[in-house]
Amino acid sequence: MRIIIMGPQGAGKGTQAAKLEEETGATHIETGDLVREEINQGTELGEKIQEYNERGELVPDEIIIDMTKPYLDENDSWILDGFPRNKEQAQALDEMLDEIGEDLDRVVVLEAPDDVLVERLSGRRQSEATGEVYHIEHDPPPEEGSEEDPGPFVQREDDTEEAIRNRLETYHEQTEPLKDYYEEKGILVTIDATQDIDEVTENVLQAVGEKDS
Ligand code: AMP
Repeated sequence: MRIIIMGPQGAGKGTQAAKLEEETGATHIETGDLVREEINQGTELGEKIQEYNERGELVPDEIIIDMTKPYLDENDSWILDGFPRNKEQAQALDEMLDEIGEDLDRVVVLEAPDDVLVERLSGRRQSEATGEVYHIEHDPPPEEGSEEDPGPFVQREDDTEEAIRNRLETYHEQTEPLKDYYEEKGILVTIDATQDIDEVTENVLQAVGEKDS
C-alpha cells in the first residue's frame, strides 16, 4: 500500500496517518518530523534547514528528496505525510516509483478552511515529556499539578501566527495544485476535515479500501 495523505497544516494529517498505520501496518513517513529530528540533533544539515522551518518555508527540494528517499526505499508499504509539497517533488516521487515499477494507490486530501486551521494550530501545545499533542481549548491536557499533568508544554517554533499564515500560503500556492495532478491520475479522494476525528477516520479508511462505504 502506497498512500499520500495531503492537506493544509492543522487538517489532522498526522492523527489520521497514525490511525491508518495502526489499521494497515503501512509505515507512516512524516517529512516534517524528519526535518525536526535533523534540527534537534544539531547536525550540519539541521543547521542549514532550521531557518526554513522557523519561517514556515519549504526546505529546498534536493534536500528534502534526499532525506525522504531512504525511507521510501526501506519500506514497501507507506503513508507519506508532508511530501510531496510541490510539482518538482511529485515528479521526483514518480521517478522513484518508476524505478521500482510500483504505483501510488491513493492520494487522500483532508480539507478545512484557513480560519479553522489557524485556530487549531495556534492553540496546539506539546508535552515535552511525552510528546503528546493537546489543544488549549478543544483537547486540554490534564489539570496542572494533578498526577497526570504532562507539563511543561512547548509550542512548535513554526506555530506562531506569522509562520502559520506563511505555511498556509505556501500550501495554497504550491501544494494544492497537486490535487489536479493526482486527479488526472484518477487516485485522488477529498475528505472534509472539519468533521469529528472518528468520522474523518471512517472516510479515510473507506478511501483506501480498508472499509466498505
Ligand atoms: P510540517 O510538520 O509538515 O508542517 O513540516 C514542517 C517544516 O518542515 C515545513 O514548514 C518545511 O520547512 C519542512 N518540510 C517538511 N516537509 C517538506 C517538504 N516536502 N518540502 C519542503 N519542506 C518540507
